[in-house]
Formats: sequence, C-alpha cells, structure tokens
Amino acid sequence: TPPSGAGRPRLTFLGTGYLGATYAICFAEMGYEVLGFDVDEPKIAKLASGEVPFHEPGLDELLRKNLAGGRLRFTTSYDEVAEFGDVHFICVGTPQRADGLAADLSYVEAAVTGLAPKLTRKALIVGKSTVPVGTAEWVEEIIARHAPEQAQVEVAWSPEFLQEGFAVEDVLRPNRVIFGVKSEWAYGMLYGSHKGVFDLAMTEDREVPVVVTDFATAELVKVAANAFLATKISFINAMAEVCEAAGADVTQLARAIGYDPRIGNRFLRAGLGFGGACLPKDIRAFQARAQELGVGEALRFLHEVDLINQRRRQRVVQLAAELLDRPNGPAGPDLSGLRIAVLGATFKPNSDDVRDSPALSVVRKLSRAGASVAVYDPEGMSNAERELPEVGFAKTLTDAVARADLVCVLTEWEEFRNADPATLAELVNGKRVIDGRNCLDQGLWVRAGWDYRGMGRPEPA
Ligand code: NAD
Repeated sequence: TPPSGAGRPRLTFLGTGYLGATYAICFAEMGYEVLGFDVDEPKIAKLASGEVPFHEPGLDELLRKNLAGGRLRFTTSYDEVAEFGDVHFICVGTPQRADGLAADLSYVEAAVTGLAPKLTRKALIVGKSTVPVGTAEWVEEIIARHAPEQAQVEVAWSPEFLQEGFAVEDVLRPNRVIFGVKSEWAYGMLYGSHKGVFDLAMTEDREVPVVVTDFATAELVKVAANAFLATKISFINAMAEVCEAAGADVTQLARAIGYDPRIGNRFLRAGLGFGGACLPKDIRAFQARAQELGVGEALRFLHEVDLINQRRRQRVVQLAAELLDRPNGPAGPDLSGLRIAVLGATFKPNSDDVRDSPALSVVRKLSRAGASVAVYDPEGMSNAERELPEVGFAKTLTDAVARADLVCVLTEWEEFRNADPATLAELVNGKRVIDGRNCLDQGLWVRAGWDYRGMGRPEPA
C-alpha cells in the first residue's frame, strides 16, 4: 500500500558507473530532479557534456534529452550532493578484494564518510551496491559517527537487478523492487522515490511487486538471486561436460528439460559460462561472508559452481588443440605458429564491459599457448586493448578472420550470429570454428565446409 502523502523527493546517485549513471538518467526520464556524483572527474565531465562513458543501448539519447530538460545534473562535490538531495543512492563499486574472495567495501565507506558530515537536514541514504549481509548496519554506524545528530539521517537497502545490455528497460520496468527499511518514514521516502516506476507500470497495466524487508534480507536477496543464476548456468555447463564424455548434445538436452516449467529454459544455455563484474565476484563474496557467519558449508556448492565455470574456458583451448591437431599435454597444448581469430571480447553482447570476461580469459590462454591471436569485438575493443595490450586486435570481423587457422566465437553478438560462413570461408587459412556460445547455425556452417565444434555437442556427422 502506498504511504499517505508520498511526494517526489530529489534524488542523488553516488557512483555513476554502469549502475549509477543508468539510474540517474532513467529516473530523470521519469520526471525526478536528479544529481549524479562521482569522484572520477573525467567521467563526470563526459556525462555532463552528454556522453555516456560506456556502451548501453538507448542511454545516450535519454542522457542528452534529460540534460537539456534541466532535470539532470552531475557533480564531483559532496557539498552539492548534501545540499540537493532528499534521498541519496549509493551505487559505487564493490569489487573482489585482491587478498581473497571477500568484497572490497572501501568505496562504500569512502562515499558514506564523504557525504555524512555534509548533511544538514533529514535525508535517506539508500544502498544499491551489491554487498555482504550486515553492510547496511555498518553504514548506519558510520553515519552515527559522521553525520550531525540533528540531521536524523536514516538508512535503507534496495538492491539492484539490472542487466547490462538491457539496463534502461530493467530500470524503467523492474520485475520487482526490494525495500529494506527500518521505519515508516524510510518506507515512504523509498516509495516516493520509486513512484515514477509505479506510475509507469500503472499506465501500462502492469504491477511492480514490492518486497518490504529488514536490512539483512534485502542484502541477501541480491546475492541469493545471483547465486541461483550462476548455479543454473553452471548446472547446464556441467551437463555439457557429461554430454562431451557421453557423445550427447547438451543443446537438445537443455531444450528438452527446459520445457518443464519448474525448470524453465532461460539461463539454461550451455557455453563458455558466466563472467562480468557481478556473478563471479558476488558468488565469491557470498561464500566469504557465509564463512564469517559460521555457515560456510551451506554455500560450499558455490565453489563447485565457480570451478565448473572456469573449466569451460579451458575446454575451448582443448577444443582448439583437437581441431588444430596439436597434442594436449599436461602443460597444455603448443599452439605456436597458428593464427586464431577470436570474435568477442565483452562478457556478454550489447555491452562494452570486459570485466572478468570469459572471452578475454580464453584469449589469454590461447596466447600463452603460443598462438597468434586477432581479437575483434563490435563495442569492447578499447576496454579490451587496455586490459590485454600485448594481444593483436582487428578493426573488423573480416580483418580478424583473414588467414586464420581457427575462428572462435566467444561472445554472442548478433554480428557474429548473422555472419555468412560461406563468405568467411573464402578468407581463412583453415575452415575450423569453435562456437563457444552455441549461437551459430551449425548446419549452415557445416554445409559451407567448416569443421564445427560447439560446447557440449558431438562432432557433426
Ligand atoms: P562501476 O565500476 O561501473 O561504477 C562504480 C563507480 O563508483 C565508478 O564510476 C567509480 O568512480 C565510483 N566511485 C568510487 N568511489 C566513489 C566515491 N567515494 N563516491 C562516488 N563514486 C565513487 O560499477 P557498477 O557496475 O556500476 O556496479 C556498482 C555496484 O552495483 C556494484 O556493487 C555492483 O555489484 C552492483 N550492480 C551492478 C550491476 C551491473 O550490471 N553493472 C547490476 C546490479 C548491481
């Protein structure tokens, strides 16, 4: 039920990366007055000039429209944030720590300690970053130490489920929102700051379910959801391993079990596995936190989920050695003297994000095995080049495959799915292809003369 008198608060977003920038822009689009804040000055300058610093379909246009409309601004000043906002969303990164599996909370700490002393009136600080359970309570303690008492600052937690590549749609039309709150006032403020989402749903005759919980449950919802999704992917990839040993086809197996509505066919595609800045680090941080809570055993399976996922990356190298007739010794195959085209660098299509990208992990392994690798990606080239400066990059798909002994499709971009195998066959040195995402039309490639290998699939007859 909506709280009485819920108005439209002014919103700030601390951290304008993939999550925070998308939020700031989409909430301005829904009619809120919004201020985006980041400590990264070049990033803020770009946003303020109408340029989204990463690739996300549809976002550029909304940014320019809402800057022009005057509802959206960007700053690097904590004073301005404190002065402007009624509700402050924490959207900073929570990467894996360098010294173990746990999440690095130093950015959350910096953002909260930066803002808290500047607050002079009642405000709500809402965590959106993915964090270990217990973080919201810790943020409350930081605020109690740093914010002036008369400001009566409160905390809430509202985890985020947006998917890169579909982020605008996911923010405007979420399939649920979670409000982790301690007071009616915090609930009212969160409700008011999502009223645009609820109003849009109403005009489209939809409903957005709201789950109101305590802090701990809200924090856990996010990591539980990601643990489930990672498990679903690794489950079907484990089946792929079995199919490879048994001569079965995991794509048919997945289709057949996916018809059972209790299982469902989404996220049930065998391939190169998951990557990105969320699933891998989130399942690791979850295990670390469970250990601290004395329930490490409950999440021991997530370690297996991670291992299955890593093994798929090695599988591509093994397939490459098989196709190229190079013996696969204990130290891995020797691929020296061979030219391999890798299509795909981002961890998924429709994004330029290469953080923990399975494709780049395979590129590293292939290079280490001695192959000369040419990588092409429609959007991820500059990020990938920054990450792997020692690897060769090609400007176009055809440049990448020219004279290749083997082509590996490692990210499911439409450009690769639509590529004509007959045309590519003219360019290569050897018609060999590894479909690391099971996204190509196998029959089409085989008919064009290619030696095709998929993930968890037998060699085509
Ligand atoms: P990101 O690295 O793209 O962005 C983080 C931003 O925070 C950067 O721009 C950085 O400069 C900024 N920052 C660092 N310290 C700051 C400070 N003290 N004050 C203000 N800004 C600061 O990360 P992201 O992908 O946007 O993820 C952010 C959080 O959201 C993470 O916890 C992530 O797990 C979670 N999340 C991400 C997604 C996603 O698809 N990217 C989805 C759901 C949840």
